[in-house]
Amino acid sequence: MTEIRVGFGFDSHPIEEGKKLFLGGVQIESPFGLKGHSDGDVILHALTDAILGALGEKDIGQLFPDTDEKLKGASSEIFLKEALRRAKEKGYEVVNLDCTLIADAPKIAPHKERIRENLSRLLGIPKERISIKGKRTEGFCKTEGIVCMCVVLLGR
Ligand code: MG
Repeated sequence: MTEIRVGFGFDSHPIEEGKKLFLGGVQIESPFGLKGHSDGDVILHALTDAILGALGEKDIGQLFPDTDEKLKGASSEIFLKEALRRAKEKGYEVVNLDCTLIADAPKIAPHKERIRENLSRLLGIPKERISIKGKRTEGFCKTEGIVCMCVVLLGR
């Protein structure tokens, strides 16, 4: 690998009672999901934006506007797949990623491995190169939403 690119992504969504919760493409047992035009998956959105940022491409909101009716309730995997397609087109592959989820609920630890395994499948890299960390805010964020920040390294 002779060239590397780093990208950073951030996303946040407020909770929505009764909606299914998806984090990293994995459905998590929870009384609430995340409000948004798509499934509201903050990990996949932050990761997609990190990859697009590393490539110097348009961001997720420009590529997939929330005014697009076709994307209503869509699985966020399609956003990630498009970012990966653009990376591949330029000859880049994902080296590793490090994501921090900021949420007071639900607890992330019991779901970490499933999320890493699913991201490993989606990205086609070993899960040892995928870090998912859950941080609680001791009430600062209460349970009003979930935030994700993600750093990704691409190489070619
Ligand atoms: Mg989002």
